[in-house]
Amino acid sequence: MTRQGLIVCAALAVFSPFALVCSAAAAEKPSGDGARMLMVTQSAGYRHGSVTRQDAKLSPAERAMTELGISSGLYRADCTQDCAGITQEMLDGYEIVFFYTTGNLPFKEEVRDYLLCDWVKKKGHGFIGAHSAADTYNNYEPYWEMIGGTFDGHPWNFGETVTIKVHDHQHPASKPLGEELTIQDEIYKFKNWQPEKVRVLASLDFEKTQHREPYHVPILWVKNYGDGKVMHMSLGHNEHVWANPKFLDSIQGGVEWILGKQEGDATPNPELSKAEDEMAKKIHAGTK
Ligand SMILES: [Zn+2]
Repeated sequence: MTRQGLIVCAALAVFSPFALVCSAAAAEKPSGDGARMLMVTQSAGYRHGSVTRQDAKLSPAERAMTELGISSGLYRADCTQDCAGITQEMLDGYEIVFFYTTGNLPFKEEVRDYLLCDWVKKKGHGFIGAHSAADTYNNYEPYWEMIGGTFDGHPWNFGETVTIKVHDHQHPASKPLGEELTIQDEIYKFKNWQPEKVRVLASLDFEKTQHREPYHVPILWVKNYGDGKVMHMSLGHNEHVWANPKFLDSIQGGVEWILGKQEGDATPNPELSKAEDEMAKKIHAGTK
């Protein structure tokens, strides 16, 4: 599959409201167990460049996730920016739902609640949120209860360079990041943060990041949710992040964890959030 072929195929996708992306490509290299991912990139609030479709082509994030599915052979991605067209029956055709969204998405209420309260809790199912997935349904508790936190501003703007430190070197989602990752990206802070329910795999490193704030800033976390799995990756504002090999390897690791291809511990680690919170306060106050 050439890149040109993929773009042509991807270009076709946006004419259909519920596009089956690159089934031709998938036929060339079938995904192992035929796993399917529904990638939702509708913006009911702020629209990021990373999810903006131009010239009838998939957006950078959609293209990256489609290509990752093909190169890894793990899944086939279907991309949509039309939440209103999604039904319960459609959701049942997927193992993974991936959100890079904003605002109050126009899902039918019963479909939204099925996704958040039933679908995601089923064995073999998983939800992955990227960046502004945390800036979605901000006042709807079943959503932030599922994902683990809510956007509360971004003290670090898109032009800032930050260092992410990795806490868990075993989990397949964080192992590819190595000891740390230095990257230029917009970083969120969170409200509705529930450290007792999530396992934080990576956080902002205030000893190596110029702009400091007196609180813990988680970047990557996972949780078991019912019999399903949830992962949130806070990076992904800038388009170049979607071409960063470590970032993509981290997402791939998360997919493998959800699909049961790799084991990963999702035991909550609230003590880590507490320790990071205390350290952030000390660094901010100049006492460390
Ligand atoms: Zn952003």
